[in-house]
Amino acid sequence: MICIANAVIDCMKILVLNCGSSSIKYQLIDMDKDEALARGLIAKIGEHGSYIRHRAGGREVVKEIPIENHARGLEVMMEYLLHPEFGVLKDPSEVSAVGHRVVHGGSVFVKPTLITEEVIKKLKEYSYLAPLHNPHNVAGIEAAKKIFPNVPQVAVFDTAFHQTLPEKAYMYPLPYEFYEKYGVRKYGFHGISCDYVSRRASEFLGKSRDDLKVIICHLGNGVTVCAVDGGKSIDTSMGLTPLGGLMMGTRCGDLDPGVIFYLAKNADLNLDQINEILNNKSGLLGVSGVSNDVREILEEAKKGNKRCILAIEMFTYRVKKWIGAYAAALGGLDAVVFTAGIGENSPKIRSMICAGLEFMGVELDEERNEKAVGIEAEISKPSSRVKVLVIPTNEEKLIAVETMKITKNLEGS
Ligand code: AMP
Repeated sequence: MICIANAVIDCMKILVLNCGSSSIKYQLIDMDKDEALARGLIAKIGEHGSYIRHRAGGREVVKEIPIENHARGLEVMMEYLLHPEFGVLKDPSEVSAVGHRVVHGGSVFVKPTLITEEVIKKLKEYSYLAPLHNPHNVAGIEAAKKIFPNVPQVAVFDTAFHQTLPEKAYMYPLPYEFYEKYGVRKYGFHGISCDYVSRRASEFLGKSRDDLKVIICHLGNGVTVCAVDGGKSIDTSMGLTPLGGLMMGTRCGDLDPGVIFYLAKNADLNLDQINEILNNKSGLLGVSGVSNDVREILEEAKKGNKRCILAIEMFTYRVKKWIGAYAAALGGLDAVVFTAGIGENSPKIRSMICAGLEFMGVELDEERNEKAVGIEAEISKPSSRVKVLVIPTNEEKLIAVETMKITKNLEGS
């Protein structure tokens, strides 16, 4: 049984899809058993060497198959979900609903939404705000509609959780008409993860969400630090697009905007080239020159690679600063929560971030921290005024729960 969001839900199989530019992540969740029956990844769509990695019943299969687009990707996924050996379904009709992660909902989609033709049209309109993400989310929705024509589909938005930001936090100090005419404002991302993790944090601490001030550090290839007050996002680090905020795997995060004009003038780069550099060649990769993967950078840093040492110092210093800023925005702090690939798995990074925050009541327990790898745990000392937690994120679970709530309402209406 799944209790997140005060929803107790039964007896359905929900397929959750997360479609990226060249990948589809999927999970088939049995809501009654609160269990992922199967999960997998279709990778390198439209590229040489595309493959499926499918896991079910404790077994994993990886197979290279030509997959030219998302529609074909979903067909391959279905072949494996129905596979006589690795499958978990006898018939596609066993899928009760499909939940899609959609990155950008703009100002219109402020909560999970049943997908209709009108919704798809609006999502296409929002593609200009998230050109790296939304078109692929829409491609996944259209492909899934073909495979499951009679199954309700729900869009769950990464931006929706941040719709509670106050105006002073989401507005940019630009001429006001840019907001009115073009929707230029902070939207924030990783909202599904921040929502899930902040709910789990309150369950873990045994305190009502309404009474908690929490900072979520979602540290993965993309990075979000988010201030959650009484269950509501009041500020978050990413902006109009997922390029803003902290330093990330390959994205630069916040910069002096003057850097762009300086590069255009002095490095003979046009806007498209600068966009590509800021999104794909910056961040940990750009500084270290080695990798966007913290594991590799830490390895090289141990050997004395100066740029790797610098990349890690820059990364952790920035997260620490954001925690300080958001503690001020919250006017107090009950817990700092680490999640996503780096946050869940790297004691070293967590330790560097928390070092020096003792003045604000953060006391990390190094022994607990070392042990907490990929598991839910408290890693602060018992005396720590601010609790420090590790909570593995589970966006798929929240998408499934939200999808189920909407589907149930349909049945009741
Ligand atoms: P995500 O985007 O949440 O899947 O996170 C992916 C990132 O997590 C990778 O690029 C790595 O930098 C990082 N990561 C995963 N496992 C570890 C680990 N054991 N130690 C440090 N970083 C890790």
